[in-house]
Amino acid sequence: MLLINPPVAKPCEPPAGVARLAGALLSRGIRCRVWDASLDGLLWLLGEPLAASDTWSRRALRHREAHIESMRNLRTYTSPDRYRRSVVDLGRILDLQGRSRGAAITLGDFQQEPFSAVRSDGLLAAAGNPEANPFFPLFSRRLEKLLGEGDSSVGFSLNYLNQAACAFAMIGFIRRHSPRTAIILGGGLVTSWLQRPEWQSPFTGLVDEMVAGPGEAILLARAGGFSQGDPTTTPDYSQLPLDDYLSPGFVLPYSAASGCFWNRCSFCPETAEGNRYRPIPVSRVMTELKDLVCRHRPALVHLLDNALSPSLLSGLANSPPGAPWYGFARFTPELADPDFCRDLAASGCVMLKLGLESGDQGVLERMDKGIDLALAATVLENLRRAGIATYVYLLFGTPAEDEAAARRTLEYVRRHHEGITFLNLALFNMPLGSPEAAIYGSGAPSRDDLSLYTPFNHPSGWDRPRVRRFVSGEFGRDPIVAAILRRDPPLFTSNHAPLFLPPLLPKEGGT
Ligand code: SF4
Repeated sequence: MLLINPPVAKPCEPPAGVARLAGALLSRGIRCRVWDASLDGLLWLLGEPLAASDTWSRRALRHREAHIESMRNLRTYTSPDRYRRSVVDLGRILDLQGRSRGAAITLGDFQQEPFSAVRSDGLLAAAGNPEANPFFPLFSRRLEKLLGEGDSSVGFSLNYLNQAACAFAMIGFIRRHSPRTAIILGGGLVTSWLQRPEWQSPFTGLVDEMVAGPGEAILLARAGGFSQGDPTTTPDYSQLPLDDYLSPGFVLPYSAASGCFWNRCSFCPETAEGNRYRPIPVSRVMTELKDLVCRHRPALVHLLDNALSPSLLSGLANSPPGAPWYGFARFTPELADPDFCRDLAASGCVMLKLGLESGDQGVLERMDKGIDLALAATVLENLRRAGIATYVYLLFGTPAEDEAAARRTLEYVRRHHEGITFLNLALFNMPLGSPEAAIYGSGAPSRDDLSLYTPFNHPSGWDRPRVRRFVSGEFGRDPIVAAILRRDPPLFTSNHAPLFLPPLLPKEGGT
């Protein structure tokens, strides 16, 4: 079995999904190989010959090796300007390479017309014309070699829209080159497709199996290595090129649960798709994490859960994993205890990502977010005092919000800005299948048959253009908000944000 992470996903850490699948297969003695085609593809494209006509492009090309190395050096993260220059210059090279091949490519995005990732005819066209994909010279060569070595099935882990067109181009190539190879598609994006109301696969004949949720049991069953019991095992990163990612040291991604323990927010795709909460027992998480940390000595642990449960946070506080860590949490009463926050900091917690969404209590209640704004203020202050940075997520334009409520969010951020290290601002998209879609959905027909969202009419006329103007204007230009937004690492955002924090930065004289 060959497991592939297709381009383009941010090249800052290895793919957790394929590592967990590899762990399940290898621990049962089933042959399996892993290829991070996204990392390979981006590094290959960055190194390809390119003619540059302007000063910026020539500078970027001249320094490309140095920029790649500087992204892997912690010293760079002491200088946000130097970091920014590397990210922007590498982005420039990818942009030029993409344009010369008919695509828009960045370090975290991929788009190519007419191979739209939200339309099945776009993805079928990508499969029918793999030569048109910018990564074709690389993946055709690699796949020919890998498939010639005897793998009878290939699994693609498809988590982001940016990966879909390249995944289907690779699938089209495999179908042509090796028609008997079984092709299995899984990952977060595929799970969302399969949960769409009235889903009928447009990919029959091209893809042999599509898997919703964790894929271990299905892959093991196909390989004849599993009948019952718990199919999960510790992720196996041993086949991934851990030194090649664009981060200063190995960032170890680890998922302790799929789904969400709260699972109630009305705007959230997890709720709309009815994804079940499947946590790994805390004691096992702690053992696995310590084992992985001991084996790989990561610079940072990235906990991938939608929201770390209070019991897992307690587990981490009581039994530190042995490396700095960060992840998503909810504003829960446990974090209103200053001692608990200090214990978390002592356990290595350097940053918590927190979905606040709104600074208006009525909006939060109508969304069933389960946040009390007074408690959230206490949490922000406790985390600040404990030395834990925060990455706060805000969501504008929900049906529950109007302009006055959005202004209250601005006021809340201004009032509590000392506890907010980083900010993420997002505009609301209405998930298909959510209860609100039935009320506010516009019913407008769409050619985007794979889209996970539906157009809607805002009940108070607080529509997207107005929301966008507010967010980029009054909100984003507020001096306090703007100062927070300026801290955000370009492109890599929360993935690299912890690396700019004092606990991770080198001490004077270090490297
Ligand atoms: S806490 Fe986060 S993941 Fe969970 S339901 Fe709410 S928005 Fe979704």
